[in-house]
Amino acid sequence: MRPAILNGLFSNIDTLNGIGPKWSKLLKNLCGPTVLSVAFHLPDHVLHRPYLTDLKSVREKMLLTTKVTVSQHKKPFSRRHPYRIICEASGTYLEVVFFNYRKDYIIDQLPVGETRLISGQVERFGERLQMTHPDYIVREEEAWKIPIYEPIYPLTQGVSNKLMNRAAKEALQLIPNLPEWLEETRIRQEGWPSFKEALFQAHHPQTEADFSSASKARQRLAYDELLANQLALVLARTRMKKQTGTSIQGSGILRQKLLSCLPFELTNAQKRVVSEIETDMQSPYRMLRLLQGDVGSGKTIVGLIALLNAVEAGFQGALMAPTDILVRQHFAKISQLCIPLGINVVLLTGREKGKKREEILSQIANGQAQIVIGTHALFTDDVIFNKLGLVIIDEQHRFGVEQRLALTQKGKAVDVLVMTATPIPRTLALTYYGDMDLSQIDEKPPTRKPVDTRVLSVKKMEAVIQKLHVALAEGKQVYWVCPLVEETEKSDLANATARFETLSAVFPGQVGLIHGKMPGSDKDTIMNAFVRKETSVLVATTVIEVGVDVPNACIMIIEQAERFGLSQLHQLRGRIGRGTLQSTCLLLYDYPLSDTARKRLDVMRSTEDGFIIAEEDLKLRGAGEVLGTRQSGLETFQLTSIELQGELLPIVRREAVQIIQTDPTLSSPRGEKLKTLLYLFNKDKEIQTIKAG
Ligand code: ADP
Ligand code: MG
Repeated sequence: MRPAILNGLFSNIDTLNGIGPKWSKLLKNLCGPTVLSVAFHLPDHVLHRPYLTDLKSVREKMLLTTKVTVSQHKKPFSRRHPYRIICEASGTYLEVVFFNYRKDYIIDQLPVGETRLISGQVERFGERLQMTHPDYIVREEEAWKIPIYEPIYPLTQGVSNKLMNRAAKEALQLIPNLPEWLEETRIRQEGWPSFKEALFQAHHPQTEADFSSASKARQRLAYDELLANQLALVLARTRMKKQTGTSIQGSGILRQKLLSCLPFELTNAQKRVVSEIETDMQSPYRMLRLLQGDVGSGKTIVGLIALLNAVEAGFQGALMAPTDILVRQHFAKISQLCIPLGINVVLLTGREKGKKREEILSQIANGQAQIVIGTHALFTDDVIFNKLGLVIIDEQHRFGVEQRLALTQKGKAVDVLVMTATPIPRTLALTYYGDMDLSQIDEKPPTRKPVDTRVLSVKKMEAVIQKLHVALAEGKQVYWVCPLVEETEKSDLANATARFETLSAVFPGQVGLIHGKMPGSDKDTIMNAFVRKETSVLVATTVIEVGVDVPNACIMIIEQAERFGLSQLHQLRGRIGRGTLQSTCLLLYDYPLSDTARKRLDVMRSTEDGFIIAEEDLKLRGAGEVLGTRQSGLETFQLTSIELQGELLPIVRREAVQIIQTDPTLSSPRGEKLKTLLYLFNKDKEIQTIKAG
């Protein structure tokens, strides 16, 4: 159970003093449901309001606080004109200006002859100094009401910075003195404040430096949050590893046959990764391994070898992929490679229905199906495996952590191999996949050719189409990608459809159109026509992003490339450069191009290394976007900026591993305190696993 000391923090936002139901609803949308979520909603920058008496030196627009004596109200003739109040500020005149004013309010706030402190943006127009709509107007004795450094929070509609400020103050009041879970030596060395003090400081920066991610308060909070994250992952990992799995040791016969049929040799990286996987499968503990390899690095064959290893040892293997297209493509490739091996490969997606589905299910249940390839449908309850030994998940970033866990429950402690084509920056790999072992294919097959990438204005479209005439005449095939950020955006769909029509007019009968809104069987038809070279141009939305493999396609045109994220562009480009032909990728952009968009396109032009692209993506967009956290419901950090504070991670990781090694049940005095930390960061589930284990 969560320690009672935390109860106040986990109570509902509406228990906050002075925050009524209307406000608490808005705050909930912004921060989250609890008092703690308000306290964890940190300001993202700070406004400095220096106190100035002498305004003569003010030349540029400047935020400041000053003391004024009101001399005269200049009421305008009509409401369309601003209301001006002439004030005297230590020998200078300052005009305070209001548009859309309420007269009573103004007279009330700034009565003639009185002295007030006002704070706001001062501007100079020639000799005249002006402050429009002061942020604060207070009496001298209330000077404390104007902050010198004012924290500014990320806000949503309806929540003002003042409201957020007030809520944060109230929430901070409710933070109890918590036991210190960090080591005394670290605290002393770093000069860190306590957790409570650190949160307080983060909400009340006194200088610019206080606000920086390198400040002691922010470092401490990040350390705490990362420690909770790493402890949870190390706990999950320890528990997984403890579960005795099955030792799977194949004879190597099927693999040998497979390799002798392949027209190529495995790369050294592939060989290394295969042996890492084999060692894991052979061990009596469960495998939980992440296989990272850039697009086209040859993960499929590695996966197949692992599956054959399971089959040789008398187990079933399953391969799960996120989209129908990808599943069917895997199935086509793998079942073909398996024919000479005499292995029975079956396909199961949501589209296999009725009698056919029952037949497949019974083969899975009686063990006749040796390799099963499918979508999520594989893991619905009616799918019962006879003797499942290995599960491979392809293109993993589309599956959430929850699914990863659910999946490992299927079958008794099955080995799990996750394959991802999205290179993940090191720090992120550790924070999101810290429960897994890591294998990397860091070498591309020698057959892969560099892609010539160019960035062009959309105005060159005509010339591009002209060039296509030549390419098609030479028998080359082309992907033409139109943006479809959300599959529900009708206008985007229209883009692809319209492009299909214009291109069909130029290249009659040679163009196909594929998008996510199509029924699956239509997608197959279109895709197959392209594979069989019946069509030469495939107009597509991002459905082709993941995995599609047509070696003869060597030209990719991406329209409105500025609307795509870096990793998406990288994935898309990975569809070409697969065959023997020189490949070209044209990134067409539309005006106006934002700074980040230009940087993204420059990165694409300058490198094909997925890891470099991923690091750049992290810098440009932040962790949440890189991993697609929004869609997948992956955990996001509240107090940590992975981009700026990632260097803490290796230290935290080491400490977490060491803690769990010496105190696996967290029952030492320090362990008990660390449990409080885990509860604080919602790791209740992981704590339960300690008890269960
Ligand atoms: P990805 O890692 O993107 O899933 P694939 O497994 O689809 O890559 O492989 C891309 C292409 O490279 C496939 O056509 C595959 O047959 C080929 N390939 C894989 N390994 C090698 C290799 N060692 N040498 C040459 N070609 C290879
Ligand atoms: Mg693949």
